[in-house]
Amino acid sequence: MTIQDVRSFAAGRWIDGDGSAREIRSAVTGEVIAQAGNASLDVDAMLDHARTTGGPALRAMTFHQRAKMIKALALHLSEHKQKLYDISFATGAIQKDHLIDIDGGIGTMLVFASKGRREMPDDVVYLDGEVEQLSRKGSFLGQHICTSMQGVAVHINAFNFPVWGMLEKLAPTLLAGVPAIVKPATASCYVTELAVQIMINSGLLPNGALQMVAGGLGDMLDRLTNQDVVSFTGSADTALKLRSQPHILSNSIRFVAEQDSLNASILGPDAAPGTPEFDLFVKEVTREMTTKAGQKCTAIRRIFAPDAHVTAVLEALQTSLSKVTIGDPNDDATRMGALVSSSQRLDVLEKAATIGKEAERVFGDPDNFEIHGANAQNGAFVPPMLFHCATPDTAVHVHEVEAFGPVSTVMPYSDIEHAVALANKGQGSLVASVITHDPQVARTVALGAGAFHGRLYFNNRDSMKESTGHGSPLPHMVHGGPGRAGGGEEMGGVRGVMHYMQRTAIQGSPEILTAIGNRWVPGATELDHANHPFTRSFHDLMIGETFKTKERTISLADIEQFAEFTGDTFYAHMDEDAAKRNPFFPGRVAHGYLLLSFAAGLFVEPNEGPVLANTGLDKLRFMKPVEAGDAIKVRLSVKHKTPRNDEYGEVRWHVTLTNQSDELVAEYELLTMNAY
Ligand code: NAP
Repeated sequence: MTIQDVRSFAAGRWIDGDGSAREIRSAVTGEVIAQAGNASLDVDAMLDHARTTGGPALRAMTFHQRAKMIKALALHLSEHKQKLYDISFATGAIQKDHLIDIDGGIGTMLVFASKGRREMPDDVVYLDGEVEQLSRKGSFLGQHICTSMQGVAVHINAFNFPVWGMLEKLAPTLLAGVPAIVKPATASCYVTELAVQIMINSGLLPNGALQMVAGGLGDMLDRLTNQDVVSFTGSADTALKLRSQPHILSNSIRFVAEQDSLNASILGPDAAPGTPEFDLFVKEVTREMTTKAGQKCTAIRRIFAPDAHVTAVLEALQTSLSKVTIGDPNDDATRMGALVSSSQRLDVLEKAATIGKEAERVFGDPDNFEIHGANAQNGAFVPPMLFHCATPDTAVHVHEVEAFGPVSTVMPYSDIEHAVALANKGQGSLVASVITHDPQVARTVALGAGAFHGRLYFNNRDSMKESTGHGSPLPHMVHGGPGRAGGGEEMGGVRGVMHYMQRTAIQGSPEILTAIGNRWVPGATELDHANHPFTRSFHDLMIGETFKTKERTISLADIEQFAEFTGDTFYAHMDEDAAKRNPFFPGRVAHGYLLLSFAAGLFVEPNEGPVLANTGLDKLRFMKPVEAGDAIKVRLSVKHKTPRNDEYGEVRWHVTLTNQSDELVAEYELLTMNAY
């Protein structure tokens, strides 16, 4: 059998391993299948290549261009995913696990690509929040902006998700305009290498945007600067070792950590045997214990059930775990594959033995269980192991020791407050789930346990058909957790991109803020154009281009006609005495919607033209009532433009309505789709 040499991709070249390369064994057969590592890798050249070639190329692209590139990369990976499935079986994973790792990673990229297009500008500056009014007259304002870090992101990943683990970090990093050096865990780096090869060969990435280290990083971390970011996933011990290096600390190098976690799942007090929630709980726990053979950072390690239902939970879980076929991942009948390596197997058995000091093992004997498949007898297999700890208040190990395999402990609780206190004994975790049909139970848990958990997952009969599973981190939602879980946060949509950008507070005049953010700020120059803006194409419209309408006087007849036509005969429009008694109105006033409708009538350009549709209205405020006899006029300024597809883009207009005394009566942002 040939032994694969897993290569590094450094400064634009594939580099073979050297004499220092470590052996990698198949999780299934125990045979040596690959080797990885090169002690003489030129880490300076890699960092330099990323900083001077990859970074500038990515920063020259807008968020939308980067998002399109990420989408194209995801689709390209998808075309080649069979090769990734094929090579992944040797990590011990079954086909269902590949879907989480490979398809899940590709899906994560697609979500980031879509969010980059929809929630970020077609620009290189991201505006964080609204303009802050720092002065009375508005000539000095504030705005937070985010710009790309000018260094490199070093991604250090765990072995369990060689593809998803890389892509969930890579997508937000590339979207931020930052090049990455990926260092996968050695045990499964041959899968990551193939995914990197596919992406590099696609030709979609700028030179220097992605590099990979197979094996050790050498002294790379000692050569980082304040513009670099380390994003780490792995054990708490390694995280502590790396993040506490003096060079990292003394240079305040950003260090994002996703560590291990003693995740909990609570069976709600209402979820008695016989309810849909009870059955759902058994299903979720079984799946979380056995998917990826329990090698999931989010897997359920601690199971809390009401005192009265502990026996029923133990029985139901034993029944469902006994149906799990363990063995050769290549075999369709297999429901749970192997751990990644024999050293991982020893580690899990050792940790399970520690848990066994204060909990009774009620299912799964590692010395006596059936392994399915003739080729699999020397692999890193363990059975699912279920423990029961009757004294969770005094027990220590069950809340502290992470056996990174199919190992979980059932524990009793007296009431929901007790369950919350026990869940929080994990000292900070990635996720806790609650299976309940009682919204008040959910609120009690959210308030009591929210601060201890990065994610809370509630499920019941109403949501179970569409729910995504306790253990699945989603690109839209943050993944991370306090304390033991690392204190970091990843993903969460655009939030995840910000780990690779610097937030800067900008203070200055409206003109300055408009130029920096490419978004018109009231008080900045209003640009005139001879033609009506609705006759001008998306690309011709200028930021700050302003259209001012003539006045229209509102009559009592207008108000009454509008009331009759729409059916809105609210007393403030129809009854002078009643309106006067209202603290907001001087007497009968025009409807707010009448003002909006008349405003549209004032600024419209009726002929067919580049404005395709009015798609919405944001931040509407009515400031001053309008009475019969008042005259309103409208000012419409182009605030911001966002391309949407090949034909049209969204124009955001800042709109103000003023009365005959130039007092502001209403303000809003109008959205239109305009042809290019
Ligand atoms: P690990 O032993 O801590 O290794 C994690 C990564 O750190 C690997 O790439 C490893 O490379 C690297 N590493 C180790 N020592 C290093 C050093 N001195 N300098 C630079 N890199 C170093 O963890 P693992 O065994 O791969 O993964 C299992 C753990 O990860 C579990 O505890 C699990 O809970 C956690 N995990 C957490 C998450 C999360 O999102 N929070 C996700 C998955 C896994 P080598 O492989 O080459 O040693």
